Amino acid sequence: MASDTPPIHLQADALVATVRAVFDSGRTRPLAWRIAQLRALDRMLVDEADAIHAALLADLGKCAIESRLTETAFLRAEIAHTLKHLRRWLRPQRIAIPLSLQPARGRLVPEPLGVALVIAPWNYPVQLLLAPLIGALAAGNAAVLKPSEVSPNVAATLARLIPRYLDNEAVAVVEGGVAETTALLREQFDHIFYTGNSAVARVVMTAAAQHLTPVTLELGGKSPLWIDDSVDMEAAARRIAWAKFLNAGQTCVAPDYVLATPAVAEKLIPQLRAAIRELYGNDPQANPVYGRIINDRHVERLLAQIDPARSVIGGEHDAGERYIAPTVLHPATAGDASMQDEIFGPILPIVPVADANAAIAFIRVRPKPLALYAFTSDRSLRQRFVDETSSGALVFDFAVAHLTAPEMPFGGIGNSGMGAYHGEASFRIFSHFKPVMSKPLKPDTLRLIFPPYGKTVERVIDWLLVRG
Ligand code: NAD
Repeated sequence: MASDTPPIHLQADALVATVRAVFDSGRTRPLAWRIAQLRALDRMLVDEADAIHAALLADLGKCAIESRLTETAFLRAEIAHTLKHLRRWLRPQRIAIPLSLQPARGRLVPEPLGVALVIAPWNYPVQLLLAPLIGALAAGNAAVLKPSEVSPNVAATLARLIPRYLDNEAVAVVEGGVAETTALLREQFDHIFYTGNSAVARVVMTAAAQHLTPVTLELGGKSPLWIDDSVDMEAAARRIAWAKFLNAGQTCVAPDYVLATPAVAEKLIPQLRAAIRELYGNDPQANPVYGRIINDRHVERLLAQIDPARSVIGGEHDAGERYIAPTVLHPATAGDASMQDEIFGPILPIVPVADANAAIAFIRVRPKPLALYAFTSDRSLRQRFVDETSSGALVFDFAVAHLTAPEMPFGGIGNSGMGAYHGEASFRIFSHFKPVMSKPLKPDTLRLIFPPYGKTVERVIDWLLVRG
């Protein structure tokens, strides 16, 4: 039976054409439109908080307070920061003109790129779809949003709500999985902002290359954490446990594994046990504050990483409920299953190393992480981490919450991604800073470098161009 629905690639084609026509009409450029969209997005996050939080609970077992903290309130803070500073970001910047071109004036004028494609993952499915959108709207772009099909309740909720609050011709939401994303990726965009795993990032970048479209890739990987006994172990353990077990460990910047000397590891383990009890009680499964694994496939993947012989904390699970207890593995080694890929779940291996030199060496021979955490009060060691390691971010004595500082660009390096966003960095991603230059026709100083060439040109080259 013939269907009336056009094939998926034609749907993508028509949708992108509509969004592009809106951008081309100039509707998204005025400051008033941008502000109205950002305010409407904020209104949606307030008025529809219950529906959004319910979807997050259904997909990830995320309680309302944690959803507020890490998703809706986070986004509202980004919007407030953007609204506060947008006029300043939009102001053309004067740039200095060398003597050789004087008299002349130059400035950098930010202009929107056009139509942005935002592809989001499932672990913070609201934040990671809408935080890039804030930058795209602030910069005056139209956008196509592709939420993750792996968090279906959030995807359906956002697809229903966004058109009701935002300019629904300039911002489109496409639900679906690989087929829909593949169809979208055949289209020409002006920027693609992808958050997710590095295998799909390669697919995205390959598709983008066909149109020479710039990309931002927010990826993951194993974020290490070093701890030594120069710090208050009880306070440190509380911060580590919170950062690791938030969202049941499904956080791109969660500490993936700990490096510590055997003596420090022995001190840390009881403190982690106490911290987990303080945060989630004696039975985290019964505590609504503790989240669930996104789906059965990921439960299976994670259970294969738990070696019962080394589960010094946790290890319990209930696959039917997609529950895995906060788990600490010790002693772990580089060859363990948990040390091969990003864990992305509530499992924390502690890898004993001889000293800080060995820890730095361990980190340096592995792909550059999205975040590197060092709990140490030793100032010279801190400096060594700054100088001798490379990561998306380096954070001392805390973890994960660094990404809530809007003026700290957030992104990876090498395998953990390219490009960084939040605050002004988001605005910059979706803007082209166009150099605009003008030079009066009189005095006609440029003639000094035109043919016929002679001694004057040589003098101008030496005196004005080279020596400035
Ligand atoms: P995912 O499976 O939801 O995939 C992400 C997006 O890619 C989805 O929208 C999906 O539809 C699309 N997709 C999947 N396969 C595709 C294909 N073959 N072709 C085109 N599109 C496709 O999410 P995920 O990748 O499992 O997310 C987890 C990863 O994301 C982890 O590695 C994590 O560290 C990383 N992450 C990074 C950040 C960051 O900000 N750097 C944040 C969150 C997650």
